[in-house]
Amino acid sequence: MYFDDAEGPVFRPPSEAHSFILRVTIGCSHNQCTYCNMYRTVQFRIRPMEEIMRQIEGAMPYRGNIRRVFLADGNALTLSTDKLLNILHILKQTFPKLQRVSSYAGPLDILRKTPADLEALYDAGLKLVYYGMESGDDATLARVNKGVTAAQSIEAGQRITASKIKLSLMVILGLGGKPASEAHAANTAKAINAIRPNMLSALTLMMYRGSELLAEFERGEFELLSPAEIMAELQQLLNDIELSSQSHCLFRSNHISNYATFAGTLPRDKNRLLDEIKEAQLELRKMTNWDPYNNVESF
Ligand code: SF4
Repeated sequence: MYFDDAEGPVFRPPSEAHSFILRVTIGCSHNQCTYCNMYRTVQFRIRPMEEIMRQIEGAMPYRGNIRRVFLADGNALTLSTDKLLNILHILKQTFPKLQRVSSYAGPLDILRKTPADLEALYDAGLKLVYYGMESGDDATLARVNKGVTAAQSIEAGQRITASKIKLSLMVILGLGGKPASEAHAANTAKAINAIRPNMLSALTLMMYRGSELLAEFERGEFELLSPAEIMAELQQLLNDIELSSQSHCLFRSNHISNYATFAGTLPRDKNRLLDEIKEAQLELRKMTNWDPYNNVESF
């Protein structure tokens, strides 16, 4: 559900399809990742309360049905804790059936929140954040201009898992290209082991028209992994993920970007998932008509 005057594109995780999308910022506070041009057409800004209130008022006819709210755009945690608490308070007062508020969160914005801030946000209704770590490999993060080191990425994830807020962590298969594939998989698994997210999604790299990464690819400076190589990377990643038997991490690799879909709970389903990935890899090796431009999309 989305009620607003249009200003730039709006993105949300697939699992927020039935949520009220409340835009507390316009655009992304980082806006420099080479593989992403989602918000390149808009100037980042934090919305003033009057605009946020106007959008909440637009949702009033549906107030009895709204159970979930997603705070958009790119990094809602960039707002001050006081402003977020105020918004969460208003949402609770406005929507009597509200069960959960969630948002995207960038690593530097998470690191600016103290454990006490996160506890207050959880108590006020923020129950879930989606964090696109993408890689735990320093070289890969630097190459795509993510703006953080692996150590900062891990610390941000741990800051969330140490709070009561649930963490949905996203990583991107193929992000390092061919030369960095092994290091990307190994170091991303290490980061996941250190963070222990509640949910983990492995997406596959897509190249977007107008992105710097696509330009690099076209200049021959970025080597895209084939579908079978993506499976090999996923196999290595899953193989290296070692979560304790008490962990219950929902694993999904079923995004529109993925060549094959996998779902399970880690560590319980690890061996079954590895078998399925091996089978998919054998099938994908037979593909003769793969064209890298199948991975090129427009936002
Ligand atoms: S990937 Fe996320 S952090 Fe990077 S520019 Fe896109 S929205 Fe911003």
